[in-house]
Amino acid sequence: MSESAVPLLPHWIDGAERPSTSGRTAPVYNPATGVVRGEVGLADDAEVAEAIASAERGFSVWSGYSIAKRQTVLFAFREILHSRKGDLAGIITAEHGKVVSDALGEILRGQEVVELATGFPHLIKGAYSENASSGIDVYTLKQPLGVVGIISPFNFPVMVPLWFAPIAIAAGNAVILKPSEKDPSAAVWMAAAWKEAGLPDGVFTVLQGDKLAVDGLLTSPAVQSISFVGSTPIAQYIYETASRHGKRVQALGGAKNHMLVLPDADLDLVADQAVNAGYGAAGERCMAISVVLAVEPVADELISRITDRIARLRIGDGAGGVDGEPDMGPLITDAHREKVSTYVDIAEQDGATIVVDGRGFTVPGNEDGFFFGPTLIDGIPTTSRAYTEEIFGPVLSVVRVQTYEEGLALINSGEFGNGTAIFTNDGGAARRFQNEVQVGMIGINVPIPVPVAYHSFGGWKKSLFGDAKAYGVHGFDFFTREKAITSRWLDPASHGGINLGFPQN
Ligand code: NAD
Repeated sequence: MSESAVPLLPHWIDGAERPSTSGRTAPVYNPATGVVRGEVGLADDAEVAEAIASAERGFSVWSGYSIAKRQTVLFAFREILHSRKGDLAGIITAEHGKVVSDALGEILRGQEVVELATGFPHLIKGAYSENASSGIDVYTLKQPLGVVGIISPFNFPVMVPLWFAPIAIAAGNAVILKPSEKDPSAAVWMAAAWKEAGLPDGVFTVLQGDKLAVDGLLTSPAVQSISFVGSTPIAQYIYETASRHGKRVQALGGAKNHMLVLPDADLDLVADQAVNAGYGAAGERCMAISVVLAVEPVADELISRITDRIARLRIGDGAGGVDGEPDMGPLITDAHREKVSTYVDIAEQDGATIVVDGRGFTVPGNEDGFFFGPTLIDGIPTTSRAYTEEIFGPVLSVVRVQTYEEGLALINSGEFGNGTAIFTNDGGAARRFQNEVQVGMIGINVPIPVPVAYHSFGGWKKSLFGDAKAYGVHGFDFFTREKAITSRWLDPASHGGINLGFPQN
């Protein structure tokens, strides 16, 4: 298909689609076919300014809505999301490539945050202390920040924006979402749903773009906070730049998640979960497991069981076909597939054994799709870049260790601290692990421990810059600013006369 024949994918500004007139675009592919399905317009400075001005107007309207009215909008948005999730999942699969059931799972995890946000009055109400000093009451208010920016990655085009937007909106803010330019359409679908739910224009804006749009948000004095999710180098850049411009920032970065398998673990459970967590969404999850640390003597047996399971995986177009839905879809772009392939080359050059090799994998009938086969690596040196760096593809490495301590030390020596898991039947060992591991989210016989909406999501080290995690109570704290008020209503009897000392009880 020629590029001129494909649609221009728009922004959403002032309650309507707004096709970019910048003249700059980026191709959006269906990764399963390799066909360009649209060109997304990339904002220029004027479009960034237009989006921010609209959001400022939206904030002035929305922040005046009563709590009850805001709740009504959130409930309506939840109903639209729930009842039309099939349409949204289709968009995710067409642009991201993940299988439809996985796309539905991502929507559900986002919906959980919307549901949490419907109960926001409880989470943003202040506290009141009567008679803190004689005749003096002290109380707090939690107010919205204003215009807030969300910058999201390609791998969860619905769930990640919903980690932040429902809470920000519930708290009275106006959101500008800058989605990934690789799968930009789900954001516009959500914008239309918010409008249908009754959200005033300008309160949920979608600004399509690249670094230019991001930098516009990071440096604008009108934008009060930035919530970023993406790779670690960009997360660090976002954190430093937005902080320098006086903003509140939470910037979630990349990961390299290890699963520690103790010899007493149920190896069939471990093999199933390693395959699910290693190859689900083609490994394009920040909570994917990429390293299995097998405490000997279980490594050979585990590799054999994982290999058996890989042989049964079905790989194809995530939208399904005559044979039903496959287990795993393609990678996001051809360039990313090349990058993943290079990491497998590096592992091989560094002396690892490629037990199952996904390089050069094709799907009959979809030869132009960006597929990469599930890959299993044994004996990778822990100095190899293929071990230390995030690959973000369907590549699972098994590293043999002799003891729990050796495994723990490897996890703790990594630069990331997003997620990890231990598989064991020994409760004491699991309890020790949760205490000693330097990672933000831990699974005990659970491979992908993404916390539920009423807890918060966030890693340690280079997996999170800033001190506020996503959603849960952290989310409400991030998207509100507190005021403390000390109040005295004078009556003749309580008048204290002149006293220049510091106020005391
Ligand atoms: P990315 O860092 O390339 O892009 C993320 C966002 O930043 C996109 O909106 C993109 O347009 C923008 N961006 C890219 N380069 C930029 C630049 N130079 N300046 C300003 N903005 C820029 O990440 P991605 O490839 O879209 O997503 C995959 C990464 O996200 C992986 O590293 C994954 O681990 C990480 N991720 C982390 C979490 C988490 O919770 N920690 C969750 C999902 C994804």
